[in-house]
Amino acid sequence: MHDEHAPLHGTTVVISGGGIGGAAAALALSRKGAAVRLFERAAEFAEVGAGLQIGPHGWRMLERWGVLPELVEKGFLPRYMQFLDAVTDSPILTMDFDEAFQRHFGGRYMVIHRSDLLACLVAAAESAGAELRTNSVVLGEETVGRGVHVTVRHPGEGPAGEDAVEDVDADVVLAFDGIHSPFRRAFVDDHPVPSGYVSYRGTVPTAGDPLGDLDGVIGHIGPHCHFIQYPLRGGDLLNQVGVFRSGRYFDGLADGDVPTDWGNNEELAHAYDHCSDAVSARTGNLWTDRWWQMSDREPLTNWKNGRTIILGDAAHAPLQYLASGAVMAMEDAECVAEYAADRAAASGIAGDAAGLDWDAVLEEVQAERIPRCTRIQATGRFWGELWHLGGTARIARNELFRAAQDHWYRYVDWLWQYDPSDRSHISDPSRGDLPAELADWHYTLVRDVRDVRDAEPAEV
Ligand SMILES: Cc1cc2nc3c(=O)[nH]c(=O)nc-3n(C[C@H](O)[C@H](O)[C@H](O)COP(=O)(O)OP(=O)(O)OC[C@H]3O[C@@H](n4cnc5c(N)ncnc54)[C@H](O)[C@@H]3O)c2cc1C
Repeated sequence: MHDEHAPLHGTTVVISGGGIGGAAAALALSRKGAAVRLFERAAEFAEVGAGLQIGPHGWRMLERWGVLPELVEKGFLPRYMQFLDAVTDSPILTMDFDEAFQRHFGGRYMVIHRSDLLACLVAAAESAGAELRTNSVVLGEETVGRGVHVTVRHPGEGPAGEDAVEDVDADVVLAFDGIHSPFRRAFVDDHPVPSGYVSYRGTVPTAGDPLGDLDGVIGHIGPHCHFIQYPLRGGDLLNQVGVFRSGRYFDGLADGDVPTDWGNNEELAHAYDHCSDAVSARTGNLWTDRWWQMSDREPLTNWKNGRTIILGDAAHAPLQYLASGAVMAMEDAECVAEYAADRAAASGIAGDAAGLDWDAVLEEVQAERIPRCTRIQATGRFWGELWHLGGTARIARNELFRAAQDHWYRYVDWLWQYDPSDRSHISDPSRGDLPAELADWHYTLVRDVRDVRDAEPAEV
């Protein structure tokens, strides 16, 4: 429960959205003493899909938040990650998560069921004193002076079963409301950027499965597709993710009429025909009742609107190729909590933080986080193109991966060694740029972002 001497005691925070980002922020801020109320519109805290990879950049935060032992018990610690060519099945790069790795990155690599991670963060945030509510749709907010007025609807919770509406005042609103963020819509006129690739997911029990002994993460990468597999829940389950380019999407784009069901089961049936049996034979384990049309968001140069800030996927949804979207949302959470506590201490109001200068905190948060997230978003797009190459480019890519076998740390140091408390991107925003060798590379899909803060305000 709340410690009256904790640095953020006295300040009030509303969080919109109870995914991994929102729950992590509720935990990080209540651990520092803030009074946190989180509102999630769904009937329960839940995650769709199964596995999530957490690199050492996420591991170290989970360790600081005190939730690691429970997660390690529920998750799985792979010994390595291996890339294989999806056509020939030959290994092209093996990244060992051995002791040298753990020393170098100050953490381990973990895979965990999404719902286990979310449940753990929600329970830990509640134990730290946060109030987390489901069935609560945040309708809108208005910055009033040095605070925010938030309206929340609770469907069916009125005295006669009608909707109840609650007015909440807070010092700041953190909008972790996902890739389709209503809060983002209130000040930026843009849309998720479709990649034309779809993702199918699935899990099978490992008992009796030919990959039952798998103790690493394996990723087959090939022309226009890839296929990732790793164990979950102490090795009892095998997680599978199949991603491929949808011909229907690109044909529709050329004809000016993209069908809504691009990436459907008919496409899945032939998406891996050109791959080795080791890959194509596994596609039968994927769930076919649902698939995900993969999109990311165009990077922004501003995430703030008054005393509200968009964070997590709402601000910087990446393509999933660096397996970091959830970790980025956790980094945002840690960053807000750290910087707010530091400012309270520097202002001499630690423990009585009602007058905290949240405008300055949010400014500092976005100065640090925007360059960091922009680089991950851009690299994610580049990485996707690299994985899916065909022809001679595929052969050259494989040679590049093989050549990196003994010095691959240097390609991921920037990603996995990051710690928001270093404020490294505030002191050097150019860290957010792609490396100079990639300066000529351009992502070719939509670029359409307009600031609409001067237009009619939209209701979130
Ligand atoms: C195929 C795939 C694989 C991935 N693999 C990885 C991985 O290995 N590692 C990794 O780190 N990341 C991975 N990611 C990315 C990761 O899943 C996301 O980046 C992360 O879950 C985003 O969390 P979030 O809390 O920002 O948003 P979300 O999880 O989308 O949560 C937003 C929440 O806000 C709620 N909400 C929306 N509007 C309102 C409102 N008005 N009022 C109240 N609530 C509202 C929604 O109901 C939702 O619960 C992957 C993504 C995909 C698609």
